[in-house]
Amino acid sequence: MTAAPDWSLDPRVRKWVAGLPLPIKLPTPLLRGGHDLHDRRAVLLRLRDATDVALAERVLLQGASLLVLDANAKAELRTRFEALGARFGAQGGDLPATIAAASAQGDRRPLLLMARLDAARGGDLTGDLVDGAAGGALLGIAQAVAVAPRHSRLVAIVDEPADATPHQAMLAAAAAGLLRSLHKETGPTGSTCHLLRLDGADPLAVADVAGFLLSPASAFLTGLDLRLGADIGPRVQADGRVALVTGAARGIGAAIARRLASAGWRVLVNDIPQAQAAAEATVHSIASSGGAAQFVGADCSSAAGAAAIAAAVQAHGRLDAAVHNAGITRDRTVRRMTGDQWRQVMAVNLHAMERVQTAVDPYLQPGAGIAMLSSVMGIAGNFGQCNYTTSKAGVLALVRLWSKQLASRGVRCNAIAPGFIVTDMTAQVPIFNREMAKQLTALLQPGLPEDVAELAAFLVHPASRAVTGQTLRCDGGMAFGA
Ligand code: NAD
Repeated sequence: MTAAPDWSLDPRVRKWVAGLPLPIKLPTPLLRGGHDLHDRRAVLLRLRDATDVALAERVLLQGASLLVLDANAKAELRTRFEALGARFGAQGGDLPATIAAASAQGDRRPLLLMARLDAARGGDLTGDLVDGAAGGALLGIAQAVAVAPRHSRLVAIVDEPADATPHQAMLAAAAAGLLRSLHKETGPTGSTCHLLRLDGADPLAVADVAGFLLSPASAFLTGLDLRLGADIGPRVQADGRVALVTGAARGIGAAIARRLASAGWRVLVNDIPQAQAAAEATVHSIASSGGAAQFVGADCSSAAGAAAIAAAVQAHGRLDAAVHNAGITRDRTVRRMTGDQWRQVMAVNLHAMERVQTAVDPYLQPGAGIAMLSSVMGIAGNFGQCNYTTSKAGVLALVRLWSKQLASRGVRCNAIAPGFIVTDMTAQVPIFNREMAKQLTALLQPGLPEDVAELAAFLVHPASRAVTGQTLRCDGGMAFGA
């Protein structure tokens, strides 16, 4: 039996703690893995335009049952989706009651609520903000998820183009404010909430992002607020695609390498030469599952190391994904920090990304995805981590810059900001701080390297072609930072 990643998820300890007369909040163990939505019931508010249609098709394709709450849906659409097994209902003023009434009694399947918000309805500032009568109001949507079974999901979607009307801008900002609180209320039940702001995104690309956020693959993500733009790169994956993952001997990097290899990528597993044994174990585990990987022993923070990595990429003649993951901590208060501790962290966590990315740039293919590991601490700051947070904040700027520079070549660049993930790196964190970190997450638990790996795999896949220049927190809804 594999050990639980945290005591609060161990069934025996949970039983014992639950019997204590103490106000200890226990998390809901998450349902992880894959994109299959069987045993989930999806509800779509409104079926009007191509985006709604793409969302409906997507959840049906992934195996969910579908209820559409739109009495005014066009007859032709209604007939088409009923033939695919969807059911239709009218929106009631009380959305949770409407959903409950339309489901079989006692249906405890997780709810996947896709709520397309409408700023124009009513023609004034009420719209979906306060108008409950049409059943699409924000409060009803929030309450529907709050009372839904464990592991439910909300994906709220707003139109917010560059030239948004005041109503659109206000609704988008208000919905973001709602979700910043709501995901904390739903977290203890393992339910998650996200906001998608549409800024010229293709309907199929919106459905691809929603399909990921509704799936078990994203179980540890909550509270994401993403802007979806026009497609960058093609919709399909290239054959023979090659990925580079730095710092991949162990921890998050190794999980990313394994995840990509399992999806058919040829993976270059980079780590320092001293980590050869661990790196070869990662390569071996990939090969024994039928994947293709090769160890590239090189210090990615040195010029020679970056050149060695580029030479390994050149041997494949192409690069379709670069995951800049290598990172170190040298935690000290700033008063006690040595120049070496400062320089080492800058070199590995920040300068290495620039060095390696510049060296492999000639091999980047159109459609390639770059994912760079930052940290929630790079957003929020943390006592005793001035060097680390400086480096991780710098990563966020690189992502914004490169996303603009690379878009015309069909290449995307995003940052991942993990919160507390169970790895050797966080094993060094004092137990009190680890317990605090858990209590500060909406989901009340640490993440696994596999959670970050799922997000990285999504960000280098064409499914995220509408997403670039953004920072995606992989933190279980941590109450840190803006
Ligand atoms: P880890 O310490 O378990 O693994 C890091 C790997 O990077 C190691 O295998 C190490 O040998 C390698 N590495 C270090 N310096 C290198 C260099 N110069 N060249 C090549 N490889 C090098 O760490 P992890 O927890 O898996 O973290 C991975 C990334 O995620 C890091 O960038 C880290 O800052 C970030 N992160 C982790 C957490 C967390 O909770 N674990 C939280 C936020 C951010």
